[in-house]
Amino acid sequence: LAESLEDAWKKLRGQDKIRESNIQEALREVRRALLGADVNLQVVKDFVAEVETKALGADVIAGVRPDQQFIKIVYDQLVEVMGETNVPLAKAETSPTVVLMAGLQGTGKTTATAKLALHLQKLERRALLVATDVYRPAAIDQLVTLGQQINVPVFAMGTDADPVEIARQGVEKAKEMGVDTVIIDTAGRLQIDENMMGELARIKEIVQPHETLLVVDAMTGQEAANLTRTFHEQIGITGAILTKLDGDTRGGAALSVRRISGQPIKFVGVGEKVEALQPFYPDRMASRILGMGDVLTLVEKAQEEIDLVDAAKMQEKMMSAKFDFTDFLKQMRLLKNMGSLGGMLKMIPGMGKLSNEQLSQGETQLKRAESMINSMTKEERGNPDLLSSSPSRRRRVARGCGYGESDVSKLVSDFTKMRSLMQQMSQGAMPSMPGMPGL
Ligand code: GDP
Ligand code: MG
Repeated sequence: LAESLEDAWKKLRGQDKIRESNIQEALREVRRALLGADVNLQVVKDFVAEVETKALGADVIAGVRPDQQFIKIVYDQLVEVMGETNVPLAKAETSPTVVLMAGLQGTGKTTATAKLALHLQKLERRALLVATDVYRPAAIDQLVTLGQQINVPVFAMGTDADPVEIARQGVEKAKEMGVDTVIIDTAGRLQIDENMMGELARIKEIVQPHETLLVVDAMTGQEAANLTRTFHEQIGITGAILTKLDGDTRGGAALSVRRISGQPIKFVGVGEKVEALQPFYPDRMASRILGMGDVLTLVEKAQEEIDLVDAAKMQEKMMSAKFDFTDFLKQMRLLKNMGSLGGMLKMIPGMGKLSNEQLSQGETQLKRAESMINSMTKEERGNPDLLSSSPSRRRRVARGCGYGESDVSKLVSDFTKMRSLMQQMSQGAMPSMPGMPGL
């Protein structure tokens, strides 16, 4: 699948722009890849439509191959939809934090309950596990055994008790024991049914959980979407755990679950053992969904290329009169990405060797310049002459960043001097060192 995606992107290569006509085939491949990863059909349709809009609206970066830019757009969108960053487990202001586990039978709820407790242990949080699955005697034993394995207490009342009552008393017990988290394992069914939903709703009503986690088997595929919709509508979830990702599924369920519920996937299960739980990272999942590690490498390459082109464009601009404070700021950020000022200075013709001390002084000055530029209006950044001619503007900027008015004046005059020096340089002259901060 990664290969067919690459094929489609190859066809985009050589085209000079991302256009409606040349994008269709690539979009079809994205669609095929997502369906192959078991993302729900409706979710795929919406996603592809969004990618199309973004790709067509994207500024074409001169020098970057359209296929590279396109792959980056697809990947970024996938990461964005899945939530950008990892969202940790909730923590209540007053203990105990109540976590309710929900999901169909066999998805890995009981296992995940123990896995979560072990995860919390590593964060020095202590948990109590509550066994409310009274329908299968083995289910209680299973949780008790897991609890013993990780040395975490389990609250159970046998198979005759009412699950809602067990949950209520379990939370009371947690308060008594002074543990900070109570995780309530519940009974699942093979399919969604009213009894299960009713019982879950009653438990939720009684214990008022801070976190209701839907446990979804990653192998569920297309169905994950409907499942999530029903649970979210009827119970209301705050997050999900995607289990059995150690299998060969590409994990498209992650996209469906997130998209349909709007809630983050917080953890992934990657094995039967209690240690096999990992925080969910959208970027890793995005490359898995698109076809394992290969895509990530492609995206990295694309990113590199985009950065390089940016740097080249900037140098061109530096040599022209159009260079303004916005460019200067961008230039500084680029410098930061490149790690050090030294590397950048070597790129400027006519720059001799600078000592480390001079360099670090330069960096301090650059930071000052950055905060002054941040206090300028967009208009002023684009047209430094506005500041040269207006003391009141310079005063306002100075007030905004907390530096003196003379500092701002100096920045502006140094900047203008530097700009004209650079123009001279580009016309072959070799002037002395520009007096720009840091340079
Ligand atoms: P429950 O019915 O939802 O409580 O599911 P269980 O926790 O009893 O798990 C059902 C089966 O799935 C057990 O055999 C578990 O060992 C297995 N299981 C749970 N999580 C994972 C996982 O992340 N990976 C794998 N490979 N198996 C898992
Ligand atoms: Mg269970």
